Amino acid sequence: MFEYAPAPESRSVVDIAASYGLFINGAFEAAASGGAFKTVNPASEEVLAEVAEAGTEDVDRAVAAARRAFGPWSELPGAERAKYLFRIARIIQERSRELAVLESLDNGKPIKESRDVDLPLVAAYFFYYAGWADKLKYAGFGPEPRPLGVAAQVIPWNFPLLMLAWKIAPALAAGNTVVLKPAETTPLSALFFADICRQAELPPGVVNIITGAGETGRTLVEHPDVNKVAFTGSTEVGRQIARSVAGTGKRLTLELGGKAANIVFADAPIDQAVEGIVNGIFFNQGHVCCAGSRLLVQESAYDEVLSSLKRRMATLRVGDPLDKNTDVGAINSAAQLSRIRDLSEVGSSEGAERWSPPCELPAQGFWFAPTIFTGVTQAHRIAREEIFGPVLSVLTFRTPDEAIEKANNTPYGLSAGVWTEKGSLILAMADKLRAGVVWANTFNKFDPTSPFGGYKESGYGREGGRHGLEAYLA
Ligand code: NDP
Repeated sequence: MFEYAPAPESRSVVDIAASYGLFINGAFEAAASGGAFKTVNPASEEVLAEVAEAGTEDVDRAVAAARRAFGPWSELPGAERAKYLFRIARIIQERSRELAVLESLDNGKPIKESRDVDLPLVAAYFFYYAGWADKLKYAGFGPEPRPLGVAAQVIPWNFPLLMLAWKIAPALAAGNTVVLKPAETTPLSALFFADICRQAELPPGVVNIITGAGETGRTLVEHPDVNKVAFTGSTEVGRQIARSVAGTGKRLTLELGGKAANIVFADAPIDQAVEGIVNGIFFNQGHVCCAGSRLLVQESAYDEVLSSLKRRMATLRVGDPLDKNTDVGAINSAAQLSRIRDLSEVGSSEGAERWSPPCELPAQGFWFAPTIFTGVTQAHRIAREEIFGPVLSVLTFRTPDEAIEKANNTPYGLSAGVWTEKGSLILAMADKLRAGVVWANTFNKFDPTSPFGGYKESGYGREGGRHGLEAYLA
């Protein structure tokens, strides 16, 4: 492999303040308790900024601001709400370079992903839902659909701005107001989004951003004056939220973990499938709820797929997220890195064979080399538990029935992939796979018009498309 010269994106396009307050009622303010925490760049462990930590009083103020804003916002004609959303979408496009650099700094994802995947999708979700705002009565949820009220939204750290867009765009289009809590390790892009709301002259209180850790999220979702809770994150926290919301009358959608099977039949175009396998598990360092973390290869193609995959993995460039040549960036936090390490140790101790290409990792920051485990069986923990990192478990199958049985043998049901040149086999497999999304001869493709969500322990409700509006309408 030849060496590339470094091609770093400039940091100077983004101006990060030393500290940030909470965005409540259209203005930034300090937390009532004066509490704050630091957010770091996971690639260098450098502190990027100090961020306010919202306590109970702050959550009360944010929910009250959203409640006050709800009446006027929900009574605006849909076409007027759409204008604000179109404006936000256009500002996101105008500021996309700044936001992409910011997202890579705070999250650790490669700039080519934040620039070419996250940001274009963020703008697309706002444009898409802006288009729905004046057409709600044609969405299929009755002739006079009404907004629910105040939505409490809690999002994770893997796609900070994109998850914000998935939550805020449909909520606002449907006439709700929101209080959103970003993850503790990635609060910055949500705070920049707050500034975009000001730039778009969105009425105060329609969007409120409160930062904090899990406790802030818990206080928000348990607040008695919210009408709707939308959560994306771990199945464990999702379960706690479902328990706390039960019987309150609040509407709930949960988008939780996954352990997707990426199924490669022997007749598949192998080079293309290998690209799909790499994209399925190493995109965004594998911090993807729908990652193709279980590779199921038909036995007769096993040797060819494995040798191609290893060859391809040896070309992946791990390192500086701001370098435009980087394929795999930093792991988002020390805690996530230790979770990935622990589960990988379990994989080895349970007898699976571990392999990573030779790869020099930076000394500072949180890093994990792209890794595959072969000789994995259904009983191994690495075949059952979500690792949420760049770690692939490889299993084999002989017949389509066996592939279906193995693919569905998981408590999750978020996504799956099928690689074959037979259209009839794709349709037959898609019919039997218990997963919310089934990709055929591709993987990790997202579109605002397409609903996304899971079965079983992957959660319930759909985000995206016309279906995504249902979660915000009565
Ligand atoms: P969490 O589920 O804890 O975090 C998701 C969001 O929920 C964050 O904003 C978090 O805040 C917040 N939160 C935490 N506890 C509560 C609570 N009791 N009530 C309300 N909100 C809460 O995920 P982790 O970051 O801890 O990651 C753990 C594992 O979860 C990962 O290893 C991965 O396997 C899985 N995961 C799955 C995701 C997915 O999209 N399916 C996304 C993220 C994680 P804060 O971050 O500040 O603690």
